[in-house]
Amino acid sequence: DISLSPRVNSVKPSKTVAISDQATALVQAGVPVIRLAAGEPDFDTPSVIAEAGINAIREGYTRYTPNAGTLELRQAICRKLKEENGITYTPDQVVVSNGAKQSLAQAVLAVCSPGDEVIIPAPFWVSYPEMARLADATPVILPTSISDDFLLDPKLLESKITERSRLLILCSPSNPTGSVYPKKLLEEIAQIVARHPRLLVLSDEIYEHIIYAPATHTSFASLPGMWDRTITVNGFSKAFAMTGWRLGYVAGPKHFIAACGKIQSQFTSGASSIAQKAAVAALGLGHAGGEAVTTMVKAFRERRDFLVKSFREIDGVKISEPQGAFYLFIDFSYYYGREAEGFGKIEDSESLCRYLLDKGQVALVPGSAFGDDTCIRISYAESLTTLQAAVERIKKALTPLS
Ligand code: PLP
Repeated sequence: DISLSPRVNSVKPSKTVAISDQATALVQAGVPVIRLAAGEPDFDTPSVIAEAGINAIREGYTRYTPNAGTLELRQAICRKLKEENGITYTPDQVVVSNGAKQSLAQAVLAVCSPGDEVIIPAPFWVSYPEMARLADATPVILPTSISDDFLLDPKLLESKITERSRLLILCSPSNPTGSVYPKKLLEEIAQIVARHPRLLVLSDEIYEHIIYAPATHTSFASLPGMWDRTITVNGFSKAFAMTGWRLGYVAGPKHFIAACGKIQSQFTSGASSIAQKAAVAALGLGHAGGEAVTTMVKAFRERRDFLVKSFREIDGVKISEPQGAFYLFIDFSYYYGREAEGFGKIEDSESLCRYLLDKGQVALVPGSAFGDDTCIRISYAESLTTLQAAVERIKKALTPLS
């Protein structure tokens, strides 16, 4: 009997992971593909952080840690959340996990009952709807539009709330759009949340440091009345270029956080002792990650400026200039319905990505993976030189279509 659990059957595999793997396989086979599909900084982990990990190994700090994470790290996280985000937590209101992805999954599992609704603005990070499905909850997708910079319309939110609504997942700065929610809009959303006592907010703030002034980051839990309605998730992967260290965390009211910890205690227990020492060093770098992080953000900003300018020169594309993260979510629907010689018809975001991979040898992610088929996601976590080459290839591949 090779039958699988219906829970697994209801879940889609991650498309971003699949496309990154496919592009990597092509490169390994000798095809010179430019990979702009992954959500991973191209920088090395800053050396102070890496050294702290190396020292942890040298000093034999290689055993199990407490399930929720070391007290040292949780205290450092509490300090960070207070000083940078204006939210007060105690260490027993924090659980450290093997990446923010685990923190998010556990939070969804901890609060959702079968049949609950999880409200997710689209375009969304690929894992949110699948996490809801794994919890036997129903994702309720709320579209946004490029002309509103992909920000959720509070009126639409209000109209979609039912007695089953349990969780609203917000991601700012956003993957895949790079949009940053202005404080005023978050305050309007908070007023709606306040009127619906069963609704919680899961605030994914993993890109908070990768933000381009004058945009600023607001933590949802810091808004009046929202502390006990919010579960905040953050991590080390993006800001500190620590994707392989696997470390994230969740913070919120103890009742919910203890439930996240209970799930973790049966799934994985405490995260890597070595990564936790490195994370303490990361938080010791100073406000918003200090110079090590500022330098990376400056490079991301230059790349964003270059790409926005370059794509605005291409016929028919629409762009909302991202204010954070390292993605550009570009509307290429102008090219749908066109014939490409030797390829066939470009039908949608998926076939356009296949075409750009075949003809241009650039790997991008179709917007359909993020719930918006009009667009394609470009990750600019690559050097400016690589991005310049990618733009040339994309322009060349699109020319016969226009
Ligand atoms: N949330 C968002 C929006 C992301 O883009 C990612 C990574 O791609 C994560 C969470 C998970 O990060 P990690 O598990 O590496 O901490």
